[in-house]
Amino acid sequence: MHTYDYDLFTIGAGSGGVRASRFAAQYGARVAVAEAGPLGGTCVNAGCIPKKLMSYAAHYHSDFADAAGFGWSMGEQQFDWATLIANKDKEIARLNGIYGQILTNAKVDIITGHAQIADAHTVIVNGKSYRAKHILIATGGHPVKPELPGSELGITSDEFFHLPALPRSAVVQGGGYIAVELASILNGLGCQVTLVQRGQQILRSMDADLGHFLIAEMRKKGVEIALDTSIVSITADDSDTQNKRVTLSDGRTLDSDCILFATGRKPNVKGLGLENAGVLVRENGAIIVDEHFATNVDSIYAIGDVIDRMALTPVALAEGMIVAANLFQHGRKLMSYENIPTAVFSHPNVATLGMTEARAREKHKHIKIFKSEFKALKHTLSGSTERCLMKMIVDADTDRVLGMHMVGADAGEIIQGFAVAMQCGVTKAQVDATIGVHPTIAEEFVTMRTAVV
Ligand code: NDP
Repeated sequence: MHTYDYDLFTIGAGSGGVRASRFAAQYGARVAVAEAGPLGGTCVNAGCIPKKLMSYAAHYHSDFADAAGFGWSMGEQQFDWATLIANKDKEIARLNGIYGQILTNAKVDIITGHAQIADAHTVIVNGKSYRAKHILIATGGHPVKPELPGSELGITSDEFFHLPALPRSAVVQGGGYIAVELASILNGLGCQVTLVQRGQQILRSMDADLGHFLIAEMRKKGVEIALDTSIVSITADDSDTQNKRVTLSDGRTLDSDCILFATGRKPNVKGLGLENAGVLVRENGAIIVDEHFATNVDSIYAIGDVIDRMALTPVALAEGMIVAANLFQHGRKLMSYENIPTAVFSHPNVATLGMTEARAREKHKHIKIFKSEFKALKHTLSGSTERCLMKMIVDADTDRVLGMHMVGADAGEIIQGFAVAMQCGVTKAQVDATIGVHPTIAEEFVTMRTAVV
């Protein structure tokens, strides 16, 4: 008969780890969570939350400009980076405290330090061994830089949130979520931004129209976007310690005081001791799990970015709840990765739900595409040339809505409601029968009557 210190030992107190630990404790399990850094993981400390707060800050730039058309006049605006960073850090410290309270209130033991797996039921933190019936790995991921000469002179999103000053100019490499979000923030705050993407497309995992439309909108806002281009090398400038010289694959050189790599993330598995228990990983380090998040070792589970399925906070939360319920409520719940809505907080915002047009064409014989591009009512007076794109993909045989995608203000807020409808299997006829809220951007989704294809 084994004796265990805990029923569940979670490694990593990010979104997924905290949620799984809290739910497991509520189901009566004895739970500990080990964390070496601040509580809350990437989302709270170096991701969703600081990014969104800084995105709000950057939106004021266009808000001030838009105000004139509505009769407002104001003096010269000034932006203070130090104030934004200090206020953002204060809010993050508050959230770190709330995460601690949530765990403590749920009677989860918080163990501060780096955890290493010693065997299938043992975790060591600060030299002390803990025996656990189940171990849950929720260690998240970290940003990676491409290997190129001078890459050490560039930063990643981790350092971005703590820059001592707003850069005068920035070169952002990448065309994914992080690249377009941080490029938009820098641009909105007054920095000259060049975004460099190795291919023709940005947001490549999404419907192709979204990336093309966003490129046009970001260019209108002053972001220079170089497609089919990569950074070849970076060198320091001896005459100006702030300045770096970037050589691009198109032969150009750019001087900039911030080179930001947003070229993807990798699972955090280094130093975890996976080999001590024989836990298998994929080539990129992602822990291999089955549909119940079990690794090849019976007692060890993994969720969130470390399994590299969908690196999204709400997905890690859902995965964590499933593991807790399955282990301590005798459930056999499965996670569905269908119809997961997601938003990119670029300027303008992007939101996506369900299938891309390309995927729908692969999977369905006959599809209909409804698409609308327009200027939002607000911009008839603001003078802004910003436009919205809304697109819906429908299975022509069953009338089921397969995908909904948009670029425009508050896209994430709009898509969330439609995600409920998609979850319920909404048809185009039901969308058409829905009364719009007038005048809104969102109503366009319920008034698109004529298929373009
Ligand atoms: P992504 O994988 O989304 O994008 C990486 C980008 O970098 C791609 O454009 C890719 O190009 C490019 N790239 C990759 N390797 C290289 C290289 N060696 N040289 C040049 N370019 C390269 O990663 P992110 O870092 O942007 O984000 C990671 C994940 O985090 C996202 O996928 C998302 O799941 C999550 N996230 C979610 C957010 C949200 O919900 N709003 C916000 C931020 C992150 P190519 O397109 O050609 O592959």
